[in-house]
Amino acid sequence: MFTYDPTNIFARILRGEIPNKTVLETAHSLAFHDIRPLAPVHVLVIPKGAYVSLDHFSAEASAEELVDFHRTVAKVVSMLDLGPGFRAISNTREAGGQEVPHYHLHILGGRPMGRMVE
Ligand code: C5P
Repeated sequence: MFTYDPTNIFARILRGEIPNKTVLETAHSLAFHDIRPLAPVHVLVIPKGAYVSLDHFSAEASAEELVDFHRTVAKVVSMLDLGPGFRAISNTREAGGQEVPHYHLHILGGRPMGRMVE
C-alpha cells in the first residue's frame, strides 16, 4: 500500500548526502531545523526508517521505532524550551500538502501559535 521513494530529500539527508542542522539524533530518529522556518522554532522530526507518512509509520513501524520517535519529540520540546506550548503537524500526501514523501512531524513554537481556524 505504501511505496517509498529512496531518492527523496530526507532520505538523502539520512544518508549524509545533504547537510542539515541537527537538533538531536537517536538510534531510530533525527530532529533538525527546517530550512524555511515558519516560526522562531521550527524543527522536523523524522524516523530513520523508510516510511512515507504518519499513517504508514503508525501502521508498520516497530514498537522500538515508535517509542524512539516520540521520545525524540519530547526531548526536542524540552531542549528548545517549548514548554509554554507548540504545534505539531504532519502534512500527509497530496491533499494534505505533503511535499517530501518521508514521514516528518513539524514542531512549531517560540511564539503563540494561535488557534487553527480557516
Ligand atoms: O510537510 P511538507 O512535506 O510540506 O514539509 C517539508 C518541509 O521540509 C518544508 O517545511 C521544507 O522547508 C523542509 N525542508 C528542509 N530541508 C530540506 C528540504 C525541505 O527543511 N533540504
